[in-house]
Amino acid sequence: MKPMPEDWERAIAVVAHPDDLEYGVASAVARWTRQGKTVTYLLATKGEAGIAGLSPDQTGPLRMEEELRSAELVGVSGVEFLDYPDGLVEYGVPLRRDLAAVFRRHKPEVVITMSFDLTWGEEGPVNHADHRAVGLAVLDACRDAANGWVFPEAGPPSNSIKDAYVAAVGEPNYFVDVTDSIDAGIASLREHRAYLDGLGGEFDPDEFLRNMAGFIGLGAGCEYAVAFRRYPMG
Ligand SMILES: [Zn+2]
Repeated sequence: MKPMPEDWERAIAVVAHPDDLEYGVASAVARWTRQGKTVTYLLATKGEAGIAGLSPDQTGPLRMEEELRSAELVGVSGVEFLDYPDGLVEYGVPLRRDLAAVFRRHKPEVVITMSFDLTWGEEGPVNHADHRAVGLAVLDACRDAANGWVFPEAGPPSNSIKDAYVAAVGEPNYFVDVTDSIDAGIASLREHRAYLDGLGGEFDPDEFLRNMAGFIGLGAGCEYAVAFRRYPMG
């Protein structure tokens, strides 16, 4: 793995649900915003179907609030929600259009998203359908954003995006050293209180994130790291 280049100013991180970015990526976001970079979040859903025993009407606003607090702790400048139905996000032209419209408006150089692999690791559980739909659509929308003949109704084309980086993949090729920013990442995950309580059990954000980032750090040559797979767009 190589260190991820940091010669950029603006990134947008796009995922399906409140909490997706807090399971690792937020530690890297904290590092970037401390460097003065601008990072915004875009969520396809409000995560309203994410807590068993709590109705979507109650859960949606609660999880949006949690996401806003999480984002603030790592210096994110803005959080937007596309309001697709949680659990039922479909890969397709409408999703690509909505993503391309946001990319054209924000003009990020770097786009971050999460794994769209079918499973988590070789023998791991099946990756959520929403994650698969969103991750793949994000990569396609990076190209769509630059093509003025595609989605002309979604704003003027922009070829700002140089690279997309996908987190939580089986075969990463870039890493970000988060040794100095993992504390903010842990605090960010702790903000998802209602969600974590809903899972029950004894989940410890500190232990979970340090274990994962420590394992990646072993391969990266630093104490804690977050790994990505790079997809060049230029
Ligand atoms: Zn998710």
